[in-house]
Amino acid sequence: MHCNVCLAEVGKPIYSASSNQSLTSLCELRDGKVNVWSCPVCSHLLSEAFADTVAYYESDYKILLSEEEEDQIYEVRNGEIVYRTNHQIDTLLSKLNLPDGAIVLDYGCAKASTLKKLSSQRPDLNIHLFDVSSMYKAYWEKFVSVDRYAIHTTPSTWDARFDVLTSFFALEHIPQPVDTVKKVYSLLKDGGVFYGIVPDTFGNVADFVVIDHVNHFTTPSLTYLLDAAGFTDIQIDDSVHRGALVFTARKGSNKEITVDPTETLEKSASLAQYWTSVNRRILETSKAHTGVTKAIYGSGFYGAYIASAMSDFDHVSCFLDASPFQQGKELFGKPILAPELLPSDVKVLYVGLNPSIARSIINSLEWLTSRGISVVYLDEQAI
Ligand SMILES: [Zn+2]
Repeated sequence: MHCNVCLAEVGKPIYSASSNQSLTSLCELRDGKVNVWSCPVCSHLLSEAFADTVAYYESDYKILLSEEEEDQIYEVRNGEIVYRTNHQIDTLLSKLNLPDGAIVLDYGCAKASTLKKLSSQRPDLNIHLFDVSSMYKAYWEKFVSVDRYAIHTTPSTWDARFDVLTSFFALEHIPQPVDTVKKVYSLLKDGGVFYGIVPDTFGNVADFVVIDHVNHFTTPSLTYLLDAAGFTDIQIDDSVHRGALVFTARKGSNKEITVDPTETLEKSASLAQYWTSVNRRILETSKAHTGVTKAIYGSGFYGAYIASAMSDFDHVSCFLDASPFQQGKELFGKPILAPELLPSDVKVLYVGLNPSIARSIINSLEWLTSRGISVVYLDEQAI
């Protein structure tokens, strides 16, 4: 196994999941065990690619395809919902000086919802789109003409043509990011800027265990990748978008830089330990409560993760979720109920919520204290 950023040998994985089924970033179950390697040279974190990567992104990876205007909530600010797409536009405009009429290519664009919204704010921009799947064409044709998008390969007329290339949450899926970033470099004009955003596994620990993220970029590994492709003026910001790294890099003559991976390697080792102990806790509590009826609080990523990692999911009667949008749906064949509808035969409740908010949410459920239920958190010893 070699690092897919600096090509150094990476030895043994620092993390091996205990379950043979894994979750994708879209919260779907997939056969296969997650292993994560940590590169000693550039501190990149990597997993194995799917054997069927090409087919997976051609047709199976259906991110938010169900509804035209579906978006994810980034945060609630002063009582108002800020959607992820809007936050991404604000961030982009704060980082880039986009001249009037700039030629922009969204590379690996999926629905291209960020650029679509940007184009209504900035109708002067000359927007182009590229992806490895044809399933988003209907979305693209609502705001760009046929000659301004490409699928699978880019036309030669696009070489050295663009002022800006954007990449929103795409590089983490790509097994050979070196080839992609070199390609991006060749599509930019001299002085053109590559602007991108990738998950930051240290800011969002869930990213570490999703099977379709073959790359978990760290600040040193992302710097290495961009520098090796020839970029200069590399800037990486880990605070402007929660749980993500936002970067800019310019096409121009670059001088080789050295990265120091020491601190990141330690953080990666701790993260691997964190998930190993989470897995152990889930398995030990499953075993300690054999045959007992269980429920999982939370039907988002963490709840789904518990389901994927436990050995006796048959004994889970339901998921609980406070979101009215989730209630009434099913996850992995089990109903999602309002928390107060917790069935009386449930004796063990797994808390599948972001660990930073899990306790305050569970402690606020006064009705739960009188139920005599064992509550299992991901980050403490089994009860
Ligand atoms: Zn490396």
